[in-house]
Amino acid sequence: MSKATWFFRFGVLGAILILSGPWSCEPGPTAVSDLPRVAMEPGFTPAVSICTWKSDKRAALTLAFDDTKESHYLLAAPELEQRGFVGTFNLNTRDVYSWRPWQHLFEKGHELGSHTWSHPNCSLISESRFLQEVSLAKLDLERHISGLKPVASFAYPFGANRAENTRIVSRYHLCARCGHGINSPDTCGDGLFELKGIGAYPPFDQAQLEGQLERTLKRGGWMIYYFHSVVDSLPPDRYHMPLAFFQQHLDAIASRRDSFWIDTQRNIAEYLSLRHNAQIEIESLSRDEINVRIRTRPGSSMWLYHTELTVRIKLPESWRGHSLIIQHANGTFSSRTLTQGSETMLLRIHNSDELNLFATPQRAHRSPLRVSG
Ligand SMILES: [Zn+2]
Repeated sequence: MSKATWFFRFGVLGAILILSGPWSCEPGPTAVSDLPRVAMEPGFTPAVSICTWKSDKRAALTLAFDDTKESHYLLAAPELEQRGFVGTFNLNTRDVYSWRPWQHLFEKGHELGSHTWSHPNCSLISESRFLQEVSLAKLDLERHISGLKPVASFAYPFGANRAENTRIVSRYHLCARCGHGINSPDTCGDGLFELKGIGAYPPFDQAQLEGQLERTLKRGGWMIYYFHSVVDSLPPDRYHMPLAFFQQHLDAIASRRDSFWIDTQRNIAEYLSLRHNAQIEIESLSRDEINVRIRTRPGSSMWLYHTELTVRIKLPESWRGHSLIIQHANGTFSSRTLTQGSETMLLRIHNSDELNLFATPQRAHRSPLRVSG
């Protein structure tokens, strides 16, 4: 070891020891539970609720792509990514000739859903043939796309379904799209297997799209907007949307991103499902602490544990301008400055969680906090 290397290794180590030693002038970490607290104003009544959509957006939107087209990864996905969007790509898996580009899409956060194996009209085939179509597509996707298992989303070819098929699809998937329209914010249970969509068809009129976006906002609903091929030339035809039109449509959507939660079919269906299976309530209240309990109904499905809920909590006016501390049942906590009389927070919920909320004066926790014992 050269002198320079020796000095570098042990010199740096020594400096770290000196800086972190007990003789450092910095105060040690403070236990969260020892922090001084700000009392609530007399007569304060807290309120808690689960937001209809993630991040308390007014409505939800999914961009979907059907029929396993090369243009989905060559043209559409890069346009989505430029705007920070993710899409749901529904594959009729018999028509996949290389899985690599689809794996690549999946790794970038896009969803791959099932559009059956051979794209039949599912209202006209036998139940056993339908079962085969569903299971072959699911097997293909799960075998070829690493990390995908289980496939959550299904889309019926031609939007065509009949009641008997729903039972089969619901056994293998979280949600399915068929039919036309905007989904209600209260969609749950079997409704998740009858999701409606709106197709992008000629003349690909932007004003029409804007009208649908406004209707979705007005209803506080969920619009699944689906495309077929995107092509970089004119003229348009029923299944080929010119790239310039596609870009305009995405820009119209991007200009409303403050109002819309834009995410995959799976992520939005999971949120809906968890929202309908979770209950939140004020468990107890003291003069300086609010205790909130949130739990999922017993027997809730495994799909629920991948997502987070946005929760709104009304807090005392006297806490405004102070540090809000949020302690979870497992001992972890977070803190933030409270600038408004209420707060939205994203919570990951397994079976249940319990939150203790209190406020501490801003100056009280300049030193690092440690989890209370
Ligand atoms: Zn199709």
